[in-house]
Amino acid sequence: MPVLPIVRLGHPALRTPAEPVVPARVVERAFQRLIDDMVETMRAAEGVGLAAPQVGFGLQLFVYEALDAEDPARGIPAIPLRAVINPMVEPLPGELVYDWEGCLSIPDLRGLVPRHPAVRVRGLDRGGGALDYVARGFEARIVQHEFDHLNGVVFLDRMRDLQSLAFYDEWERFLAESGAGARSAPPE
Ligand SMILES: [Zn+2]
Repeated sequence: MPVLPIVRLGHPALRTPAEPVVPARVVERAFQRLIDDMVETMRAAEGVGLAAPQVGFGLQLFVYEALDAEDPARGIPAIPLRAVINPMVEPLPGELVYDWEGCLSIPDLRGLVPRHPAVRVRGLDRGGGALDYVARGFEARIVQHEFDHLNGVVFLDRMRDLQSLAFYDEWERFLAESGAGARSAPPE
């Protein structure tokens, strides 16, 4: 399975709303291959999520997965692999939570982003079946980040204060252990 090139900020695919996938096409070989390639690409880039526009496909599809961190003290929970097609994401009640995010399409930068603590996700899975589940915490953050990509939105647009924007090395040196969240902020 090939690793696909990830487009970076400035590429129009990141600013164009993605098209819904025709449900009957979900099980077609070409679409299944795209999902497999996106999973491979996400893993190769050591990210926790990837949306189709990030590899230049204007389709409503994202994948995500978070593995156990090597250092459990950093506390990234394991989140099983999912592919989500034609998603609707509905915030559930709760105060916004600030935590660090990065993006594979905006390499090296980290920033504090407010997100809903839990969201209801509806859509299709890679078998074409209906998905309806609640994502909470870090998984809810990933879902909101990837869903934004399907609407031409990146995490920078969601930041309330650009003062926390930092390059990774400086972030690790000065910011990672201070303030909100001490997570390693893997890119999405
Ligand atoms: Zn991203």
